[in-house]
Amino acid sequence: MNSPLQQLFDPLFEEKKVQFWLKREDLNHPTLPGNKWRKLKYNLQAAKSAGKETLLTFGGAYSNHIAAVAAAGAAFGFATIGIIRGEEAAIQNKTLMQAVEQGMQLHFISRASYREKENSDFIDQLYTTFGDFYLLPEGGTNDLAVKGCEEIANEITIDYDYLCCSCGTGGTLAGLITADQGHHQLLGFSALKGIQDMEDKISALVMTRSGKQFTNWSVNHQYHFGGYAKLPPELFDFIETFLLKNNILLDPVYTGKMLFGLNDLIRMDYFERGSIIIAIHTGGLQGWNGFEHMI
Ligand SMILES: *Cc1c(COP(=O)(O)O)cnc(C)c1O
Repeated sequence: MNSPLQQLFDPLFEEKKVQFWLKREDLNHPTLPGNKWRKLKYNLQAAKSAGKETLLTFGGAYSNHIAAVAAAGAAFGFATIGIIRGEEAAIQNKTLMQAVEQGMQLHFISRASYREKENSDFIDQLYTTFGDFYLLPEGGTNDLAVKGCEEIANEITIDYDYLCCSCGTGGTLAGLITADQGHHQLLGFSALKGIQDMEDKISALVMTRSGKQFTNWSVNHQYHFGGYAKLPPELFDFIETFLLKNNILLDPVYTGKMLFGLNDLIRMDYFERGSIIIAIHTGGLQGWNGFEHMI
C-alpha cells in the first residue's frame, strides 16, 4: 500500500504560485513508520534469507533507527541487540524502554568505544560477545537501504518539479536520486551541523547502487538550527504552527527543519512560479521522546 500524498494549502503558496505536497511516510507502516521502515525492508529480507536470527545495530539513546530495529525485531521475529552510545544510568528514557519492551537487548558503551563501531576489530569482538548476527550500520544506511528508499519516489504518480527530504546520513536522499534517474530537482536538508562530507557519502551510495552519478540534486546546510537534536524556540514555534494549520505533527529532529527551510525558501522566491514541490515526511515522531521537557 502506497503512503498518502497530501496537498497542503497556505496563503504563502498562493502568493508565490507554488503547489506544495507532503508524501506521508509517517503513515507508511503501522508499527515502524517512516523512512527507517524503507531502509530496513530489504535488509530484513536479506537477514531472513541468510538464516540470521538476530539483528545488531548502533545508535544514540533517542535514535529513530534503534526504535525501528526494535519494532522490526518484534514484527518479523528477529532477536535484536542495540549498541547504545553512553552510560546506562544516564539514559533511562522512553525510546529505550519501548525498545526493551519489544525484546531488544541493550548494550551501553562509552562515547570513545562508540567511535570504533566501524572498525573491524571492534566488530569481531561483537561477534565473539553476541554470536552470529546481521549487522545494520548506524542510521541503517547501506545499499539495501538505498534500494528501499527508491520506492518512496517510485510511488509518486503526479507530475512535480522538486522532491525534498531531510538528511542525516543521506541514505534516503541517495535512494530518491537513484530512483529519479535525473528527471527532477532533488533537495536534501541536513539536520546536522558541519557535515562536510555528506555529499561525498551520498555520491558514493548513488554510485554503488546505480553505477552512475547525477547532478540534479543538492543538500542545503542552512537549516540545521544549531545541530543534531537542537530545538530552539523558533523551530518549536514553527512546528506548533504547522500542526495547528495542517493537523500534521512534524518530528523535531528532521522534518521540522526541512519544512521550516522550505517555507523560508518559498518566501525568498527560491522556487520559480508554477513549481510543484513534494516534501517527504519521513516520520520520526518517536523523536519527541527526547524533548518531553518542552511539551
Ligand atoms: C533517520 C531519519 C532521517 C534521515 O535519514 P537518512 O537516510 O539518514 O538521511 C530523516 N528523517 C527522519 C524522520 C529520520 O528518522
